Amino acid sequence: MPLIEPGATIGILGGGQLGRMTVLAATALGYRCHVYCPIEDSPAKQATSLSTTAEYEDKHALDRFANSVDVVTFEFENVPGDTAEFLAARKPVRPGPTALRIAQDRLKEKDFLRSIGVGTAPYEAVTSEEELRRALETIGSRAILKTVRMGYDGKGQVGIRGDSDLAAVWHGFESCDGILEGFVEFACEISVIIARGENGKTATYAPVENQHVNHILDTTIAPARVMPEIAMRAEAIARHIAEKLDLVGLLAVEMFVTHGGEVLVNELAPRPHNSGHWTIDACYTNQFEQLVRAICSLPLGSPERHSDAVMKNLIGADIEQWREAVNDPLQKIHLYGKDEALPGRKMGHVTKLSARR
Ligand code: AMP
Repeated sequence: MPLIEPGATIGILGGGQLGRMTVLAATALGYRCHVYCPIEDSPAKQATSLSTTAEYEDKHALDRFANSVDVVTFEFENVPGDTAEFLAARKPVRPGPTALRIAQDRLKEKDFLRSIGVGTAPYEAVTSEEELRRALETIGSRAILKTVRMGYDGKGQVGIRGDSDLAAVWHGFESCDGILEGFVEFACEISVIIARGENGKTATYAPVENQHVNHILDTTIAPARVMPEIAMRAEAIARHIAEKLDLVGLLAVEMFVTHGGEVLVNELAPRPHNSGHWTIDACYTNQFEQLVRAICSLPLGSPERHSDAVMKNLIGADIEQWREAVNDPLQKIHLYGKDEALPGRKMGHVTKLSARR
Protein backbone atom coordinates (compact mmCIF):
# COMPACT_ATOMS: atom_id res chain seq x y z
CA MET A 1 0.00 0.00 0.00
CA PRO A 2 1.57 3.31 -1.04
CA LEU A 3 2.11 6.21 1.28
CA ILE A 4 -0.97 8.36 1.76
CA GLU A 5 0.65 11.75 1.79
CA PRO A 6 -0.36 14.97 3.56
CA GLY A 7 -2.96 16.71 1.42
CA ALA A 8 -4.95 13.46 1.09
CA THR A 9 -8.34 13.04 2.75
CA ILE A 10 -8.96 10.76 5.73
CA GLY A 11 -12.53 9.53 6.15
CA ILE A 12 -13.66 9.11 9.74
CA LEU A 13 -16.76 7.13 10.67
CA GLY A 14 -18.24 8.60 13.84
CA GLY A 15 -18.45 12.18 15.00
CA GLY A 16 -17.59 12.11 18.71
CA GLN A 17 -14.66 13.53 20.64
CA LEU A 18 -12.30 10.76 19.48
CA GLY A 19 -13.03 11.79 15.90
CA ARG A 20 -12.59 15.44 16.82
CA MET A 21 -9.13 14.85 18.30
CA THR A 22 -8.19 12.67 15.31
CA VAL A 23 -9.20 15.53 12.99
CA LEU A 24 -7.05 17.95 14.99
CA ALA A 25 -3.99 15.67 14.78
CA ALA A 26 -4.54 14.91 11.08
CA THR A 27 -4.98 18.60 10.28
CA ALA A 28 -1.68 19.40 11.98
CA LEU A 29 -0.02 16.95 9.59
CA GLY A 30 -1.66 18.61 6.58
CA TYR A 31 -4.42 16.06 5.92
CA ARG A 32 -8.05 16.87 5.23
CA CYS A 33 -10.71 14.96 7.14
CA HIS A 34 -14.20 13.96 6.08
CA VAL A 35 -16.38 13.03 9.05
CA TYR A 36 -19.36 10.72 8.45
CA CYS A 37 -21.98 10.42 11.17
CA PRO A 38 -25.76 10.57 11.49
CA ILE A 39 -25.72 13.52 13.91
CA GLU A 40 -25.54 17.00 12.45
CA ASP A 41 -23.68 19.04 15.07
CA SER A 42 -21.17 16.56 16.41
CA PRO A 43 -17.80 17.29 18.07
CA ALA A 44 -15.75 16.01 15.11
CA LYS A 45 -17.75 17.91 12.50
CA GLN A 46 -17.05 21.17 14.33
CA ALA A 47 -13.35 20.62 13.60
CA THR A 48 -13.57 20.16 9.81
CA SER A 49 -15.46 21.64 6.88
CA LEU A 50 -15.94 18.26 5.15
CA SER A 51 -18.74 16.13 6.53
CA THR A 52 -21.66 13.87 5.72
CA THR A 53 -24.78 13.57 7.83
CA ALA A 54 -26.35 10.21 6.99
CA GLU A 55 -27.18 6.83 8.51
CA TYR A 56 -24.47 4.15 8.48
CA GLU A 57 -26.72 1.99 6.29
CA ASP A 58 -27.19 4.65 3.58
CA LYS A 59 -25.37 3.03 0.62
CA HIS A 60 -25.61 6.11 -1.62
CA ALA A 61 -24.11 8.37 1.02
CA LEU A 62 -21.42 5.76 1.80
CA ASP A 63 -20.55 5.47 -1.87
CA ARG A 64 -20.15 9.26 -2.18
CA PHE A 65 -18.11 9.29 1.03
CA ALA A 66 -15.82 6.52 -0.27
CA ASN A 67 -15.26 8.45 -3.50
CA SER A 68 -14.20 11.55 -1.58
CA VAL A 69 -11.57 9.97 0.71
CA ASP A 70 -8.24 8.13 0.40
CA VAL A 71 -8.47 5.99 3.52
CA VAL A 72 -11.18 5.28 6.08
CA THR A 73 -10.97 4.81 9.84
CA PHE A 74 -13.54 4.78 12.63
CA GLU A 75 -13.70 6.40 16.02
CA PHE A 76 -16.14 4.03 17.71
CA GLU A 77 -16.56 0.31 17.31
CA ASN A 78 -20.30 0.15 16.94
CA VAL A 79 -20.16 1.18 13.30
CA PRO A 80 -22.02 -1.70 11.58
CA GLY A 81 -19.63 -4.37 10.25
CA ASP A 82 -21.46 -4.30 6.90
CA THR A 83 -20.73 -0.58 6.57
CA ALA A 84 -17.02 -1.25 7.04
CA GLU A 85 -17.16 -4.11 4.48
CA PHE A 86 -19.00 -1.90 1.98
CA LEU A 87 -16.34 0.80 2.30
CA ALA A 88 -13.46 -1.70 2.32
CA ALA A 89 -14.53 -2.84 -1.17
CA ARG A 90 -13.90 0.75 -2.32
CA LYS A 91 -11.09 2.22 -0.21
CA PRO A 92 -8.67 0.95 2.44
CA VAL A 93 -10.42 0.72 5.83
CA ARG A 94 -7.93 0.75 8.70
CA PRO A 95 -8.18 -1.02 11.07
CA GLY A 96 -10.04 -3.50 8.84
CA PRO A 97 -13.55 -4.91 9.22
CA THR A 98 -12.28 -8.08 10.95
CA ALA A 99 -10.87 -6.19 13.94
CA LEU A 100 -14.07 -4.15 14.08
CA ARG A 101 -16.32 -7.23 14.06
CA ILE A 102 -14.30 -8.88 16.83
CA ALA A 103 -14.28 -5.78 19.04
CA GLN A 104 -17.99 -5.08 18.71
CA ASP A 105 -19.05 -8.48 19.96
CA ARG A 106 -17.94 -9.40 23.48
CA LEU A 107 -18.32 -13.09 22.80
CA LYS A 108 -16.28 -13.07 19.58
CA GLU A 109 -13.73 -10.91 21.38
CA LYS A 110 -13.30 -13.32 24.29
CA ASP A 111 -13.28 -16.36 21.97
CA PHE A 112 -10.57 -14.68 19.90
CA LEU A 113 -8.50 -13.86 22.99
CA ARG A 114 -8.87 -17.42 24.25
CA SER A 115 -7.85 -18.80 20.82
CA ILE A 116 -4.59 -16.83 20.89
CA GLY A 117 -3.77 -17.82 24.47
CA VAL A 118 -4.62 -14.52 26.19
CA GLY A 119 -6.16 -14.79 29.67
CA THR A 120 -9.60 -13.30 30.37
CA ALA A 121 -12.21 -13.58 33.13
CA PRO A 122 -14.06 -16.90 32.90
CA TYR A 123 -17.11 -16.45 30.66
CA GLU A 124 -20.09 -18.23 29.10
CA ALA A 125 -22.64 -17.23 26.48
CA VAL A 126 -26.15 -17.00 27.94
CA THR A 127 -29.38 -16.64 25.98
CA SER A 128 -31.98 -17.64 28.57
CA GLU A 129 -32.61 -17.64 32.31
CA GLU A 130 -31.89 -21.36 32.37
CA GLU A 131 -28.50 -20.86 30.70
CA LEU A 132 -27.78 -18.05 33.14
CA ARG A 133 -28.40 -20.40 36.08
CA ARG A 134 -26.23 -23.09 34.51
CA ALA A 135 -23.40 -20.67 33.72
CA LEU A 136 -23.38 -19.39 37.30
CA GLU A 137 -22.71 -22.93 38.47
CA THR A 138 -19.46 -23.08 36.48
CA ILE A 139 -18.39 -19.47 36.82
CA GLY A 140 -19.26 -18.90 40.46
CA SER A 141 -22.00 -16.82 42.04
CA ARG A 142 -20.27 -13.42 41.79
CA ALA A 143 -20.47 -12.42 38.16
CA ILE A 144 -21.40 -9.72 35.67
CA LEU A 145 -23.99 -10.23 32.95
CA LYS A 146 -23.22 -8.08 29.90
CA THR A 147 -24.91 -7.60 26.55
CA VAL A 148 -22.86 -9.18 23.78
CA ARG A 149 -23.21 -6.13 21.57
CA MET A 150 -23.55 -2.35 21.90
CA GLY A 151 -22.46 -2.12 25.53
CA TYR A 152 -20.10 0.61 26.62
CA ASP A 153 -19.41 2.67 29.74
CA GLY A 154 -21.20 0.02 31.83
CA LYS A 155 -24.39 0.19 29.75
CA GLY A 156 -26.14 -3.16 29.48
CA GLN A 157 -24.32 -4.63 32.51
CA VAL A 158 -25.80 -6.23 35.63
CA GLY A 159 -23.81 -7.34 38.66
CA ILE A 160 -24.86 -10.71 40.12
CA ARG A 161 -24.24 -11.97 43.66
CA GLY A 162 -25.18 -15.15 45.51
CA ASP A 163 -28.49 -13.66 46.68
CA SER A 164 -29.56 -12.08 43.36
CA ASP A 165 -33.06 -12.83 42.09
CA LEU A 166 -32.05 -14.43 38.79
CA ALA A 167 -35.54 -14.40 37.28
CA ALA A 168 -35.68 -10.63 37.86
CA VAL A 169 -32.14 -10.16 36.53
CA TRP A 170 -32.93 -12.01 33.32
CA HIS A 171 -36.33 -10.34 32.97
CA GLY A 172 -34.76 -6.88 33.34
CA PHE A 173 -31.87 -7.64 30.96
CA GLU A 174 -32.28 -5.65 27.78
CA SER A 175 -31.03 -8.27 25.37
CA CYS A 176 -31.38 -11.98 24.74
CA ASP A 177 -27.71 -12.29 23.80
CA GLY A 178 -25.71 -12.13 26.97
CA ILE A 179 -22.24 -13.03 28.16
CA LEU A 180 -21.74 -13.96 31.79
CA GLU A 181 -18.31 -13.09 33.14
CA GLY A 182 -16.83 -14.13 36.45
CA PHE A 183 -16.19 -11.11 38.67
CA VAL A 184 -12.47 -10.35 38.78
CA GLU A 185 -11.20 -9.14 42.16
CA PHE A 186 -8.63 -6.87 40.60
CA ALA A 187 -5.86 -4.90 42.29
CA CYS A 188 -6.11 -2.30 39.54
CA GLU A 189 -7.27 -1.74 35.99
CA ILE A 190 -4.74 -0.79 33.36
CA SER A 191 -4.71 -0.27 29.62
CA VAL A 192 -2.12 -0.36 26.91
CA ILE A 193 -2.44 1.52 23.63
CA ILE A 194 -0.46 0.23 20.70
CA ALA A 195 -0.08 1.51 17.16
CA ARG A 196 0.86 -0.86 14.34
CA GLY A 197 1.80 0.02 10.79
CA GLU A 198 1.23 -1.96 7.63
CA ASN A 199 4.89 -3.04 7.76
CA GLY A 200 4.26 -4.69 11.15
CA LYS A 201 6.23 -2.11 13.15
CA THR A 202 4.65 -1.20 16.45
CA ALA A 203 4.82 1.63 18.98
CA THR A 204 3.49 0.97 22.46
CA TYR A 205 2.54 3.52 25.09
CA ALA A 206 3.38 2.80 28.70
CA PRO A 207 0.56 1.03 30.56
CA VAL A 208 -1.68 3.45 32.43
CA GLU A 209 -3.92 2.97 35.43
CA ASN A 210 -7.64 3.59 35.01
CA GLN A 211 -10.08 4.42 37.77
CA HIS A 212 -13.79 4.14 37.00
CA VAL A 213 -16.76 5.75 38.71
CA ASN A 214 -20.19 4.26 37.89
CA HIS A 215 -18.49 2.11 35.21
CA ILE A 216 -17.27 5.24 33.37
CA LEU A 217 -13.59 6.11 33.16
CA ASP A 218 -12.94 8.91 35.63
CA THR A 219 -9.16 9.18 35.97
CA THR A 220 -6.13 7.85 34.11
CA ILE A 221 -2.76 7.84 35.87
CA ALA A 222 0.24 7.67 33.54
CA PRO A 223 2.28 5.62 33.98
CA ALA A 224 0.44 2.87 35.89
CA ARG A 225 1.75 2.20 39.40
CA VAL A 226 2.58 -1.44 38.73
CA MET A 227 5.77 -3.50 38.94
CA PRO A 228 7.98 -3.24 35.82
CA GLU A 229 7.47 -6.96 35.23
CA ILE A 230 3.68 -6.47 35.02
CA ALA A 231 4.06 -3.46 32.74
CA MET A 232 6.26 -5.51 30.40
CA ARG A 233 3.80 -8.39 30.37
CA ALA A 234 0.90 -6.02 29.61
CA GLU A 235 2.80 -4.50 26.70
CA ALA A 236 3.72 -7.94 25.36
CA ILE A 237 0.03 -8.99 25.50
CA ALA A 238 -1.00 -5.86 23.56
CA ARG A 239 1.67 -6.55 20.91
CA HIS A 240 0.58 -10.17 20.60
CA ILE A 241 -3.07 -9.16 20.09
CA ALA A 242 -2.22 -6.44 17.54
CA GLU A 243 -0.14 -8.96 15.57
CA LYS A 244 -2.79 -11.67 15.65
CA LEU A 245 -5.42 -9.14 14.48
CA ASP A 246 -2.98 -8.03 11.75
CA LEU A 247 -3.95 -4.58 12.90
CA VAL A 248 -3.13 -1.44 10.94
CA GLY A 249 -4.01 1.49 13.15
CA LEU A 250 -4.48 1.83 16.87
CA LEU A 251 -5.62 -0.69 19.47
CA ALA A 252 -6.45 -0.10 23.13
CA VAL A 253 -6.35 -3.15 25.39
CA GLU A 254 -8.14 -2.85 28.74
CA MET A 255 -6.81 -5.21 31.38
CA PHE A 256 -7.28 -6.26 34.99
CA VAL A 257 -4.24 -6.84 37.21
CA THR A 258 -5.20 -9.35 39.89
CA HIS A 259 -3.83 -9.40 43.44
CA GLY A 260 -1.82 -12.46 42.40
CA GLY A 261 -0.11 -10.52 39.60
CA GLU A 262 -2.10 -12.03 36.73
CA VAL A 263 -2.90 -9.79 33.76
CA LEU A 264 -6.33 -10.54 32.24
CA VAL A 265 -7.76 -8.77 29.21
CA ASN A 266 -11.22 -7.23 29.64
CA GLU A 267 -11.86 -5.43 26.38
CA LEU A 268 -10.37 -4.39 23.05
CA ALA A 269 -10.98 -1.11 21.22
CA PRO A 270 -9.39 -0.83 17.74
CA ARG A 271 -9.43 2.98 17.84
CA PRO A 272 -8.18 5.88 19.95
CA HIS A 273 -9.18 5.43 23.58
CA ASN A 274 -10.14 7.68 26.47
CA SER A 275 -7.26 6.26 28.51
CA GLY A 276 -4.87 7.61 25.87
CA HIS A 277 -5.93 11.26 26.04
CA TRP A 278 -3.00 12.04 28.33
CA THR A 279 -0.66 11.33 25.40
CA ILE A 280 -1.75 14.60 23.75
CA ASP A 281 0.07 16.63 26.37
CA ALA A 282 2.64 14.22 27.78
CA CYS A 283 4.10 12.26 24.83
CA TYR A 284 6.24 13.10 21.80
CA THR A 285 3.59 11.59 19.51
CA ASN A 286 0.04 11.38 20.78
CA GLN A 287 -2.35 8.50 20.09
CA PHE A 288 -4.31 10.45 17.45
CA GLU A 289 -1.23 11.39 15.44
CA GLN A 290 -0.04 7.80 15.79
CA LEU A 291 -3.34 6.58 14.30
CA VAL A 292 -2.97 8.97 11.37
CA ARG A 293 0.63 7.87 10.80
CA ALA A 294 -0.32 4.18 10.94
CA ILE A 295 -3.27 4.36 8.53
CA CYS A 296 -1.40 6.59 6.07
CA SER A 297 1.69 4.31 6.08
CA LEU A 298 3.92 7.02 7.55
CA PRO A 299 6.58 5.85 10.02
CA LEU A 300 5.25 5.75 13.58
CA GLY A 301 6.36 8.49 15.95
CA SER A 302 7.89 8.03 19.38
CA PRO A 303 5.34 6.98 22.02
CA GLU A 304 7.76 8.04 24.78
CA ARG A 305 6.45 10.44 27.40
CA HIS A 306 8.31 13.58 28.34
CA SER A 307 6.08 14.08 31.41
CA ASP A 308 4.01 12.01 33.77
CA ALA A 309 0.33 12.84 33.72
CA VAL A 310 -3.03 12.45 35.40
CA MET A 311 -6.03 12.77 33.10
CA LYS A 312 -9.43 13.50 34.61
CA ASN A 313 -12.61 13.26 32.56
CA LEU A 314 -15.12 16.09 32.85
CA ILE A 315 -18.39 14.19 32.91
CA GLY A 316 -21.76 15.92 32.85
CA ALA A 317 -21.81 18.92 35.19
CA ASP A 318 -18.04 18.47 35.84
CA ILE A 319 -17.54 20.58 32.74
CA GLU A 320 -17.74 23.62 35.01
CA GLN A 321 -14.39 22.57 36.50
CA TRP A 322 -12.65 24.10 33.49
CA ARG A 323 -13.04 27.44 35.29
CA GLU A 324 -10.78 26.24 38.09
CA ALA A 325 -8.40 24.28 35.83
CA VAL A 326 -7.78 27.29 33.63
CA ASN A 327 -6.06 28.99 36.57
CA ASP A 328 -3.52 26.18 36.96
CA PRO A 329 -0.64 26.63 34.50
CA LEU A 330 0.15 22.91 34.62
CA GLN A 331 -3.30 21.73 33.59
CA LYS A 332 -4.23 21.29 29.95
CA ILE A 333 -7.93 21.64 29.15
CA HIS A 334 -9.74 19.87 26.32
CA LEU A 335 -13.44 20.56 25.79
CA TYR A 336 -15.43 18.70 23.18
CA GLY A 337 -17.94 21.33 22.03
CA LYS A 338 -21.01 19.47 23.32
CA ASP A 339 -24.01 21.61 24.25
CA GLU A 340 -25.87 19.62 26.86
CA ALA A 341 -23.99 18.52 29.98
CA LEU A 342 -26.14 15.42 30.51
CA PRO A 343 -25.24 13.08 33.42
CA GLY A 344 -22.68 10.50 32.28
CA ARG A 345 -21.80 12.44 29.12
CA LYS A 346 -18.11 12.96 28.44
CA MET A 347 -17.85 16.73 27.97
CA GLY A 348 -14.08 17.19 28.11
CA HIS A 349 -10.98 16.28 30.06
CA VAL A 350 -8.11 17.94 31.86
CA THR A 351 -4.57 16.64 32.01
CA LYS A 352 -2.24 17.60 34.79
CA LEU A 353 1.43 17.22 33.95
CA SER A 354 4.33 16.54 36.30
CA ALA A 355 8.03 15.85 35.82
CA ARG A 356 8.74 12.36 34.52
CA ARG A 357 9.82 9.99 37.26
P1 AMP B 1 -16.57 -2.90 30.32
O1 AMP B 1 -17.75 -2.25 29.71
O2 AMP B 1 -16.46 -4.36 30.05
O3 AMP B 1 -15.28 -2.17 30.01
O4 AMP B 1 -16.74 -2.74 31.91
C1 AMP B 1 -16.75 -1.49 32.54
C2 AMP B 1 -16.10 -1.62 33.91
O5 AMP B 1 -16.82 -2.56 34.71
C3 AMP B 1 -14.69 -2.17 33.86
O6 AMP B 1 -13.75 -1.18 33.56
C4 AMP B 1 -14.55 -2.72 35.29
O7 AMP B 1 -14.35 -1.67 36.21
C5 AMP B 1 -15.92 -3.32 35.53
N1 AMP B 1 -15.92 -4.73 35.09
C6 AMP B 1 -16.25 -5.19 33.87
N2 AMP B 1 -16.12 -6.53 33.78
C7 AMP B 1 -15.68 -6.96 34.99
C8 AMP B 1 -15.35 -8.24 35.54
N3 AMP B 1 -15.47 -9.38 34.84
N4 AMP B 1 -14.91 -8.27 36.83
C9 AMP B 1 -14.80 -7.13 37.57
N5 AMP B 1 -15.12 -5.90 37.11
C10 AMP B 1 -15.55 -5.80 35.83
